[in-house]
Amino acid sequence: MTLLKIAHIGNPVLRQRAREISAEELASAETQRFIDDLVETMRDANGAGIAAIQVHNAIRLFVVEVKDNPRYPYKPNVPLTIVVNPVITPLTTETFDNFEGCLSVPNLRGVVKRFTRIRVRAWDRHGEESDREIAGVTAGTYQHEVDHLNGVVFLDRVSDPTTFCTWTEFDRYYKDAFAAQVGEIVKRFGS
Ligand code: ZN
Repeated sequence: MTLLKIAHIGNPVLRQRAREISAEELASAETQRFIDDLVETMRDANGAGIAAIQVHNAIRLFVVEVKDNPRYPYKPNVPLTIVVNPVITPLTTETFDNFEGCLSVPNLRGVVKRFTRIRVRAWDRHGEESDREIAGVTAGTYQHEVDHLNGVVFLDRVSDPTTFCTWTEFDRYYKDAFAAQVGEIVKRFGS
């Protein structure tokens, strides 16, 4: 396995619209190896998710996994999921305030409004179609990753710039209140 190089904010690749991937391309040995490398890269960086475009491959594919994540200790666990060619639709107008960070935006966090419930239609790594409802904090993670596929980073969606903070200042000033708020969301949605 190979750890892939993560593009940082300012790199034009992050502003591209990623392209759909065909079933044939997905099934290729090259793409399957890429998916393994992407998962490894996410785990190595303690990410909760990473999109292919963040490692300079502008295809509509991202991976999500949370397993007692030290970077996001308040996030509920999510099994490893490979999401290909996703189409997401909000199932509500209700939003919650999500304090987001991004592997492509070193040492900065900010509050973004995300829908509490979304519908996700996508393929898995084998091209199997799924149609699922994702709710709560995990829905926020999905919306963050789908944004990447459209050249959008969370910074674009921070409506109150006074919420920007470094990870150290987040821990010092905001973490406890945010963890409590996340706890309420997880209690309500189970994810
Ligand atoms: Zn990101």
